[in-house]
Amino acid sequence: MSDCIFCMIKEGKIPSSTVYEDDKILVFNDVDPQAPVHMLMIPKKHISSLNETSEEDEALLGYMMNKVRDVAKLAGLDNGYRVVINCGEDGMQTVFHIHVHILGKRKMLWPPG
Ligand code: AMP
Repeated sequence: MSDCIFCMIKEGKIPSSTVYEDDKILVFNDVDPQAPVHMLMIPKKHISSLNETSEEDEALLGYMMNKVRDVAKLAGLDNGYRVVINCGEDGMQTVFHIHVHILGKRKMLWPPG
């Protein structure tokens, strides 16, 4: 998607600070961190939101969930962390390329704002 900022990050057209990358996903630091550690995990495949996934994405989505633990360990989140996927307008999604927020190094609040 040519006008998607996360696709541009994936293609190296917009700089980002990469935490982890493989053939399926990219993890980079959020530009506006809401915790001492705030990373975003994206699939390299453009999927706009959780509302736009299909059966063929099940393996990729499972792969991402399974990789969260490894990325959290890489970032030293040994005391726990929060995983968030915002979806749509009420979910306050602002970038329409599905992404997993991984936040840590502070105590999270519940319920979320
Ligand atoms: P969401 O509101 O769930 O769609 O989250 C989008 C996230 O992307 C926000 O936390 C933004 O701070 C973050 N973001 C937007 N542009 C960039 C960028 N160029 N590099 C890193 N993070 C970004």
